Amino acid sequence: MTPRHALLIDPVASDDDRGEFSDTLSAVDPAGPVLSLGELSAQRGDGVFESIGVVDGHPQEVTAHLERLAHSAALCDLPAPHLGQWRAAVAEIASRCPAGEYVIKLVLSRGVDQGPGPTAWVTASPAPDFSRVRRDGVRVVTLDRGVDSGASTRAPWLLLGAKTLSYAVNMAAIREAGRRGADDAVFVSSDGIVLEAPTASVIVRFGDRFVTPEPATGILHGTTQLSLFAYLAGRGFDVGYDTISVDRLRHADAGWLVSSVRLAAPIVAVDDHEIALDAALTASMTDYLLSPRD
Ligand code: PLP
Repeated sequence: MTPRHALLIDPVASDDDRGEFSDTLSAVDPAGPVLSLGELSAQRGDGVFESIGVVDGHPQEVTAHLERLAHSAALCDLPAPHLGQWRAAVAEIASRCPAGEYVIKLVLSRGVDQGPGPTAWVTASPAPDFSRVRRDGVRVVTLDRGVDSGASTRAPWLLLGAKTLSYAVNMAAIREAGRRGADDAVFVSSDGIVLEAPTASVIVRFGDRFVTPEPATGILHGTTQLSLFAYLAGRGFDVGYDTISVDRLRHADAGWLVSSVRLAAPIVAVDDHEIALDAALTASMTDYLLSPRD
């Protein structure tokens, strides 16, 4: 879908002390032409991004997303984004989003090949209708990511913990899941540890304990997972990071794929092992995730 709104950002240095950024943000026609065909984001997927959910005009968890954008940029040796400037861009484009669910995408690209510096932009688009999947859940298959759980420390150039624009592998995994009769995939390390889904974090319930894989295993540290853990801890549940084998995942009391726009999709089967769906808890998670969160 062509986004409804787009702003090009003229990136300023991360230590720029101006308090006003409107003259660095320009509204552009989202249908283009806007970007050069020399863009390294288009040619090589060389850049980083964030997707922020917007509910009734309120962008969710902006600080967590901006911090992760900066983390991804650092891992990719991109110039550090000025968080105040990006915050201003998010506020500006969110003010153009009407009631309902939208998604704001932040992109920081390495720029045009041999060009002067990074290219940056934000867009806003209506979010897909995820109400059915939030209620009925997803069947997942586990897929080998082909790297072991120590790879991100041993080979940081794989950029496993960065949210880079190179999502072709993630999209291929979702297509493979479809070929196997499932709705989505869960990546597993070559040493058998559950990692993440191609576009979501994994949360698993064992009794009254909710766990998610360690970010150090080479996965994105999900903003939705962090927010849900705070919510669940507030309700008296035990939450934490843990090593989860495929067998434990298959025998979990419940599980969810969680992300900023689809929110909490309950896992109803792992490799054809059925998992119970806690409709009341899932609905309460969705209500929480749709409430204004900063
Ligand atoms: N892991 C991957 C690979 C993702 O692409 C995403 C989100 O797109 C997530 C985890 C979940 O992150 P968040 O909850 O911040 O959206």
